[in-house]
Amino acid sequence: MELDRLERRLLADIGRVSKAHHLFDPGDRILVAVSGGKDSFGLLWLLRRLAERLPFDVSLVAVHLEQGHPGFPIDVLRDWLASEGFEHRIVSVDTYSIVKSKVPEGHTMCSLCSRLRRGILYNAALEMGLNKIALGHHKDDAIETLMLNLLYAGRIKAMPARLRSDDGRNVVIRPLLGVDESDLARYAELRGFPVIPCDLCGSQEDLQRKAVKRMIAEWTKANRHVRGNLFAALGHLVPSHLLDPQFAGDASGRDASVP
Ligand code: SF4
Repeated sequence: MELDRLERRLLADIGRVSKAHHLFDPGDRILVAVSGGKDSFGLLWLLRRLAERLPFDVSLVAVHLEQGHPGFPIDVLRDWLASEGFEHRIVSVDTYSIVKSKVPEGHTMCSLCSRLRRGILYNAALEMGLNKIALGHHKDDAIETLMLNLLYAGRIKAMPARLRSDDGRNVVIRPLLGVDESDLARYAELRGFPVIPCDLCGSQEDLQRKAVKRMIAEWTKANRHVRGNLFAALGHLVPSHLLDPQFAGDASGRDASVP
């Protein structure tokens, strides 16, 4: 059956990333960030499946940040979480008004919105005694972020699978980093998740991200391995062949720049 096959593949993808980056530890209490989008529903459902298979106990708490968007159908989400038996909390903070007042009309609000959301989730995890925060970023998010940083910010950077926050208080994990977005979309359809679009705020789309998505799609038409190669590149750095002075010199300590 398609759903079973897809779920097995998704769990295998998660298993690979989780093994390589040591995402889970015995006794973890994990805040699973659930926005209402397809990725976060998939994350929550798949982590529950994974938790059943791990050789040690971990527990999950689904947390939704209610941001004050007019018309957000919070009851749909709350009812679904309750009916599916997920331990959950709804945290209400009106970031919508803050973002609206700070970002000029016609500009994308997503980056400020995401920063605020992250800070609130960090604090919520601490208050609830949860030691990790799971986010639903997937493989396409990682390669788009890599390309955005390369093309628009002049740095080689994507997103880590496991990261301790700057202040050292939280550990953020991204179990879906090895998962294709198209698989998550299909999984959400097959499972019938009540997906809520993330555009109720009326934010303009991020034009740079849109452009990068288009580029990757174009390149993929010419070479179907492009996405896979971009993702593989994130795990195969050759720092000695870059120009960052902190990696100057080869492993033996000689100056690699001298022939
Ligand atoms: S679309 Fe709206 S709710 Fe979603 S991240 Fe952007 S600003 Fe925030």
